[in-house]
Amino acid sequence: MRQQHRFFIYCVAPSLAVLALITPEPVTTEHWSGRYRIGIMPCGNDLSFVFQLCPEWDKYAGALPIDRELWSRAFPRLRHEIELLSQTKAMQHSFSIVRCPRWQKGRVAIVGDAAHAMPPTLGQGAGLTLMNAYALTIALDRNRTVDETLPAWETAVRSITDTTQRWAMRYDFLTRRWPESLWFVRAAIISAFRLPALNGRMRIADQGLKVAAIQSLGRAP
Ligand SMILES: Cc1cc2nc3c(=O)[nH]c(=O)nc-3n(C[C@H](O)[C@H](O)[C@H](O)COP(=O)(O)OP(=O)(O)OC[C@H]3O[C@@H](n4cnc5c(N)ncnc54)[C@H](O)[C@@H]3O)c2cc1C
Repeated sequence: MRQQHRFFIYCVAPSLAVLALITPEPVTTEHWSGRYRIGIMPCGNDLSFVFQLCPEWDKYAGALPIDRELWSRAFPRLRHEIELLSQTKAMQHSFSIVRCPRWQKGRVAIVGDAAHAMPPTLGQGAGLTLMNAYALTIALDRNRTVDETLPAWETAVRSITDTTQRWAMRYDFLTRRWPESLWFVRAAIISAFRLPALNGRMRIADQGLKVAAIQSLGRAP
């Protein structure tokens, strides 16, 4: 398990006029500057969700309340937003990466971050946790023994999670370890992630359990 980044989370609910300035359209935007990243996403009519990301070793960027000058220098076009964030209460977390050779043994199975914590770059960790737990209930609902069911469950669902975790780590690599001398190429790579062929692989979890050929409980025999 490794911890690598500080992750600030804000729920911003200022006046609607200010909110309209931050998220004028119902579209998520992500901004990159060196090893920092800011994401802004509208959540309904009167709330926006904002995250800031910086390396864990960067004590200045990771300070709370945030250093307005430092962040504004990195993101000059977001100066207004950063001013607002500096007046808003933030939560701060580190995130972990967990890779387990097996998710089950005998009659014991692990689900969620204990099995596959990943960088929150794709926002899939909680969804995968629920999906894998749901798949487990479906598998156990069928008439096999627990000892038989658990390996079959892991085989069926694991590749979706492993693929998503690899992509989440690649995305994270672009901020955390991408060489400074190649920053000019980074924007092109991030754009390439939107190509349908790549995006379909990266967001394989969006397709849900049908990728694992698991039917919902309602349709199970
Ligand atoms: C900064 C950040 C942003 C994220 N953003 C997203 C996102 O946008 N979308 C998304 O889908 N996922 C996101 N995730 C991932 C998501 O939060 C996790 O994948 C999800 O919470 C995993 O659920 P879990 O139940 O496995 O673990 P947790 O939610 O971590 O729950 C484990 C619980 O066990 C408790 N616990 C631990 N040890 C003990 C003990 N010894 N005794 C009793 N209780 C204990 C903990 O207090 C905790 O309440 C994010 C994660 C982070 C860190």
